[in-house]
Amino acid sequence: MTPVDPTQPYDDQNIFAKILRGELPCTKVYEDDWAFAFLDINPQAPEHILVLPRGAYVSWDDFSMRASAEEIAGFVRAIGTIARDKGLVEPGYRAIANIGPDSGQIVPHLHVHICGGRPLGRMIPE
Ligand code: AMP
Repeated sequence: MTPVDPTQPYDDQNIFAKILRGELPCTKVYEDDWAFAFLDINPQAPEHILVLPRGAYVSWDDFSMRASAEEIAGFVRAIGTIARDKGLVEPGYRAIANIGPDSGQIVPHLHVHICGGRPLGRMIPE
């Protein structure tokens, strides 16, 4: 798959845009006015959830630049709520946002990975 160029405009045909519009299936975990979350199709940990803002943002860079304070607060709170509801706070978890080619971002709609359920090892492989 081609890595995302985070400087490109939002492509409303990306796979997560289609999931948000209900055009493609997913295993939904959570939704509110600001965020939508579902299970990653290729989990890297026993818990692997993707959390998306509802708005059209390519990446964390785009979101941090253009999103309203309300959208940012709603999205960040949703990530915390989901992790708490899944019982991940006490054992610990990782929240990851890939941005652009060096990160390996594949899907050009901002998503935060919530990973947990086992010790996760080094944050960045050598
Ligand atoms: P990233 O590399 O940060 O862009 O991560 C994209 C993630 O989306 C990967 O972990 C994929 O396994 C996941 N993914 C791709 N397509 C789907 C899908 N249709 N449903 C759920 N997860 C998906």
